[in-house]
Formats: sequence, C-alpha cells, structure tokens
Amino acid sequence: MARVLLENVTKVYPGNVLAVKDFNLEIQDCEFVVLVGPSGCGKSTTLRMIAGLEEITGGTIRIGDRVVNDVPPKDRDIAMVFQNYALYPHMTVYENMAFGLKLRKFKKTETERRVKEAADILGIGELLARRPKALSGGQRQRVAVGRAIVRKPEAFLFDEPLSNLDAKMRVQMRTEISKLHTRLSTTMIYVTHDQVEAMTMGDRIVVMRDGVIQQVAEPAELYDNPVNTFVAGFIGTPPMNFFSGVVGRSDGRFVFREETFELPLPEAWNDKVASFVDQEVEFGARPENIGSPTAEATPDVPRIEAMVEVIEPMGAETYLYMNTGKHAFIARVDPHRKCRVGDRLALAIVLDKSHLFDPKTTNVIV
Ligand code: ADP
Repeated sequence: MARVLLENVTKVYPGNVLAVKDFNLEIQDCEFVVLVGPSGCGKSTTLRMIAGLEEITGGTIRIGDRVVNDVPPKDRDIAMVFQNYALYPHMTVYENMAFGLKLRKFKKTETERRVKEAADILGIGELLARRPKALSGGQRQRVAVGRAIVRKPEAFLFDEPLSNLDAKMRVQMRTEISKLHTRLSTTMIYVTHDQVEAMTMGDRIVVMRDGVIQQVAEPAELYDNPVNTFVAGFIGTPPMNFFSGVVGRSDGRFVFREETFELPLPEAWNDKVASFVDQEVEFGARPENIGSPTAEATPDVPRIEAMVEVIEPMGAETYLYMNTGKHAFIARVDPHRKCRVGDRLALAIVLDKSHLFDPKTTNVIV
C-alpha cells in the first residue's frame, strides 16, 4: 500500500504527439482513483508511465517515498491488470497466478498459500487446474486479477479491465473489484472510458481530455459541480442538456434568454452573472431537473415549452426527447406521466441545480 504522486508529468511520443501534459495528482494510500475520458485522452499513457511501461518525458513519479522515474517496472512493486487479461495460454490457472511469485523465487508453500487465498477471494478455487481457453471472459478476468493480488503489491493498476466483458458481467465485475478494494484496502488506479464505471467505482475521479486533467473530484461533486462544459457533458447519462442564449435583465432580475423561452435566474446567482449581461452563455440542465415530479408539483416554477419527439419508458423513469423548435433536449419524467409524441408540454425546470457556462472559455459561471 502506498501513496502515488505525479508531479508535472508529461509524455511526448515520437512524432511530437503530446499525449499527457503537465499532469499533477496525489493519490492517497488505499485510495481508489479512476482516470476517465474519451479515447485518446492520455489515460493509458498515464497509467503505463506509473507502471514503468512507458518512459516519462518530463516530471516526477513517486510511489511511496521513492522516485521511480528510472526504476524498471518489475522493481516498482505494483501490479497491472490489462484489458486483454494477458494470461499465458499454455499454463493452468494455478500456474498463471503463481508465475510472478516463482519469478521472484518465493517458496513453494508460500506461493501455494497465496494462490489459494486469492482464488478463494475471487471464487475461482475450482478452476485452478484449467487452462485459460476453458474459461469464460469473466473467469479469465478474475484470474488476471488473482495474478495481481498474489503479489501483494503497493498499488494495483487497471487498464480498462472490463471492456471485453458483456454488459451484465461488466456490472458484476465492477462490484467485485469495488469489494476487493475494500477487502484488500490498497491503492488502486483504474482507467476507463466509461463514465458509469468511473462514477460507481472511484473514491475520486480524474477527468481527462486531450492529455490535460479537466477536474479531479469525488463522484457527487463532479456530477453536481462540473468545472466546464466538457465535464458537465461527459459525466451523466443521458447527458446534461445545453441551451445557448444570453443573459438579460427583466423586471429588475437577471434572466437567461433564448429564442423560444426566458428563465428568471436565481437571485443567489446575481454576483456571478452580473458581468455577463448581454453576453452569450450556455445554460445547462440535467434531464432529471427538467419535468421532475417534485418540480412539476411546485407552483411558480419556471417552465420550458417544447414538443415531445420520442418517448423512452425505462421502467422507473421515462425519458422524453423534446424540441423547443430551436433546441432538442431530454427530460426525465415520472413514468406514469401521460403524454404522446407531438404533444406540447411546459416542463418545470429546477434552476438551482442548473448551471451557466461561458462559451468562450467553456468554464462554469455558476
Ligand atoms: P487513452 O488511453 O485515453 O485512449 P492513450 O494514452 O492510449 O489514450 O493515447 C494518448 C495519445 O497518445 C493518443 O493521441 C494516441 O494516439 C497517442 N499514442 C499512444 N501511444 C502512442 C505511441 N506508442 N506512439 C505515438 N503515439 C501514441
């Protein structure tokens, strides 16, 4: 178990590809940190630099108290679990799990003890004599995790470990890895492009884009207070709705105005929006804050009028794909709400959970 510290870490690949730019992050001992972002944003490169599989162009990486910039991967005391499992096909499950210990010249009895213990934790005790090709995807993934556990490393690194599994198995393995983290109480750094995986697993989430950290925060904070339109749009399904318009004044209050509707802005926002009068802004509202049962039942809540284009019943909730005539958006409404495609609805907006963004910088205003 160890703290992992990245200071001003940069990676430039041959051909001048800037994959990671000035990355700064302190990962606490025993923390579960998830790096998330779209494909190509530099997540794997960051993880591989921590593992020592990729040279660092600039900056410093520490594991525990040791600067590991020039320490070879095998001496970094970390274990990595890959997307493709990287199991040896000619070895049994037992041999695959024991392999790293054998290389490190562990005694046979200790190796046996550790493999059995890991196999018990992962529920693969019955499979020890099998070869990887006789295992399901989920079982292979467990073996790959088991091989990492037996080493009792300072930190675990996971590179998209669930992306080869079917949707149901992914959800199951997600909770298993979370439980494993609690049980082993060790530092875990996990890379995924899937924001749901990130939100459900991470103590903290690092959102990356184009090699640059956008925001580091706990899941709820990231969801409630995104720092810019990228984070706001990336975290959450269905994604946040954005409307472009301007800040105006009406009856002594600030309003958000677009072609088809106007919303009075909460007075608590006054200080922040005052300097944006007559300027373009993006209004952002999550689907659950448009047409929610509580807002619908509250009098005097501002509303947006729009036409229903598609109805998606999900069981516990219904998504309405709406169009104002200028903007398409999604509302998450009560599944018992009666409406049909083509209806015009006035949907209540929860303003104090909505946001304004500055389109010039993409940063949040409020
Ligand atoms: P992610 O894991 O977020 O999908 P990567 O870290 O794999 O992103 O890649 C980040 C950027 O670096 C991408 O633009 C990718 O094309 C580039 N890249 C990755 N590996 C190499 C390499 N070996 N040589 C050159 N460019 C690379």
